[in-house]
Amino acid sequence: MTPTRSGSFHLFKFRGIAVYVHWSWFFVAFYSISTRVNHYTSPLWSALEYVSLFIVVLMHEFGHALACRQVGGLADQIVLWPLGGVAYVDPPERPGATLWSIAAGPLVNVVLLPFAWLLYAWMHAIGGAQLYPNLTSFTYALFMINLSLLIFNLLPIYPLDGGQILRSLLWYFLGSARSLLAVAVIGFIGGLGLLGLAVWIRSPWIGIMTLFLLANCWRGFREAQVLRKLELLPRRSNWQCSVCQSAPLEGRYWLCHTCLHVFDVFAGQGVCPHCNSVLSLVTCPECRQARDLLLWRLPRREVKAAPPVIEG
Ligand SMILES: [Zn+2]
Ligand SMILES: [Zn+2]
Ligand SMILES: [Zn+2]
Repeated sequence: MTPTRSGSFHLFKFRGIAVYVHWSWFFVAFYSISTRVNHYTSPLWSALEYVSLFIVVLMHEFGHALACRQVGGLADQIVLWPLGGVAYVDPPERPGATLWSIAAGPLVNVVLLPFAWLLYAWMHAIGGAQLYPNLTSFTYALFMINLSLLIFNLLPIYPLDGGQILRSLLWYFLGSARSLLAVAVIGFIGGLGLLGLAVWIRSPWIGIMTLFLLANCWRGFREAQVLRKLELLPRRSNWQCSVCQSAPLEGRYWLCHTCLHVFDVFAGQGVCPHCNSVLSLVTCPECRQARDLLLWRLPRREVKAAPPVIEG
């Protein structure tokens, strides 16, 4: 559904994040540039405008990727394609970490917006419309690119950033599965509205984009069902992840690094029943953070009251 590295050209690598551009980008670039030529006296300016759009998109995606890394998640590639950019981010399964990884993208546009506006206002003030018509049109386009990217991405339609931000916020109250289910349903409703808009204003572009969003909503809906099943599996209530506070699943889910057998790390206090080696660091299936087994123990409630301290 989303573009992958196959069929993409490697552009560069920055801070361990590889940037690729999908082949379809060049076709759409050619089409878009040729339809924008009447805004400028030279087609070079419309090419510059299209490239700027993707530089802004790239900065937005780097916002996601760097924020995801900051919270301990995985992010190592960004692929640009005609529908924008895709940063392959895998933040830890916690609402706070997900919220920051998603919100950092639109925040880049929030930061760029006043700069773009100042640039245009300055061109306008010095009479740029007459003196440098191309440059003035370009600064206006730069402002509009940032504004439209910001507004579009903040629509609460999953998997747009707005939908994912809404999901992270609902996660605090509803949990992982039900928050995803809620935004998938909201996404379907919003997506159908967007599809109606596409037909009304006869925009094949919004139509294609919406079909892509609806397909992802469906995927989110299925994922939520799997997450719900996972939530209902039996858990060990006397143990708890020190990072995300979730109780571990009861059963054989952990891999012994010595003999590669899968075993229940909590049943035998971290000792593998096959080779007797000790797995000291236990990875949480929920947030994927590895912590010492001792840190998983819930603090026992003190049953006996402590003897009163008499101060004299
Ligand atoms: Zn984004
Ligand atoms: Zn955890
Ligand atoms: Zn073993």
